[in-house]
Amino acid sequence: MTSFAQPQFKIISSTHPVSAEKRTEILNNPGFGKYFSDHMAAIDWTRDEGWHDARIVPYGPLQLDPAASVLHYAQEIFEGLKAYRHQDGSIWTFRPEMNAARFQHSADRLALPQLPTQLFIESIRALIGVDAAWIPSQPDTCGYIRPFMIANESFLGVRPAQRAAYYVILSPAGSYFGKGMAPVSIWLSTDYSRAGRGGTGEAKCGGNYASSLVPQQEATANGCSQVLFLDAEEHKYLEELGGMNIFLVRKDGTLLTPQLSGSILRGVTRDSIIQLAHGLGMKVEERRITIDEWRDGVNSGDISEVFACGTAAVVAPVNMLKGKGFTCGDEQAPAGKITLALHKMLTDIQYGRAQDKHGWMQRLA
Ligand SMILES: *Cc1c(COP(=O)(O)O)cnc(C)c1O
Repeated sequence: MTSFAQPQFKIISSTHPVSAEKRTEILNNPGFGKYFSDHMAAIDWTRDEGWHDARIVPYGPLQLDPAASVLHYAQEIFEGLKAYRHQDGSIWTFRPEMNAARFQHSADRLALPQLPTQLFIESIRALIGVDAAWIPSQPDTCGYIRPFMIANESFLGVRPAQRAAYYVILSPAGSYFGKGMAPVSIWLSTDYSRAGRGGTGEAKCGGNYASSLVPQQEATANGCSQVLFLDAEEHKYLEELGGMNIFLVRKDGTLLTPQLSGSILRGVTRDSIIQLAHGLGMKVEERRITIDEWRDGVNSGDISEVFACGTAAVVAPVNMLKGKGFTCGDEQAPAGKITLALHKMLTDIQYGRAQDKHGWMQRLA
């Protein structure tokens, strides 16, 4: 068994990398999640051997036994973070130890093995080490890093798998908003819940996303780009979107966001925004927020801005909430001042344009 005191990734280089010309073409218009770099990181785990065989291998299809547990019982977790290229060409990532800790928390909930923080971060570093050329350099572009873990024991019995595999793939990503930050409309889901008490809402697992697709379709059918879920018990309190946390801004500048309830994902962006707001002397209330408070607040003018946040979009302004039989907000309203300011503060740190006073950035290459 390999010791990971000093993680060592064996590197098997791709014999068929994408040509420099084709890669440049991709990096000029990468979109999101469509193209992948030449390599991926992989580490295997078995109950007897623990984590072993850390390696960087050519990107390509996985071989899975048809009885692999992930295919039947969805024993899977993932993470999402970004690699930012700074002006001087260096490549950095943002608070990766928080993603590592969340990955461990998700692993616990899904009865998967814990990947040590150092191994999580080194796997990303090793992949970026070989595929640095895949990180674009145009403003607000990045490399999207997707670590994930699957149970791959060939066994149809229902119990935690005794084999698992961890991978990291890397996808160049364009600027999320293209030109300017266009606010989005949000659909209030009243027929579906995302997570209930004691469920997997606080874990970043594929199953949560599978169950959010139908309500997401309903949102799209109603002209909205995202869906807002309420608590499963009373259908009264804001929880979050399918893949983003939510903030309301009061006209006195106070930020309101649902408290972590056990069924809300602990967003790294959410936590960073709370810290930035505190640093600006703003008040932040983490508490239960009813849907009526949102609606009445927007109607009375007491709630002046709403935004969603997550790694992919960083901050997404929301100007409209729609639900069965009601709408609230103004579809023409531009992004709010505080929303824009927080987006700028965070992205300036991430892209190395502002001083990183919190020590959030880690250099990858
Ligand atoms: C990943 C995710 C978020 C955002 O988390 P970040 O760490 O900020 O990217 C929010 N909600 C859900 C359900 C998520 O899966």
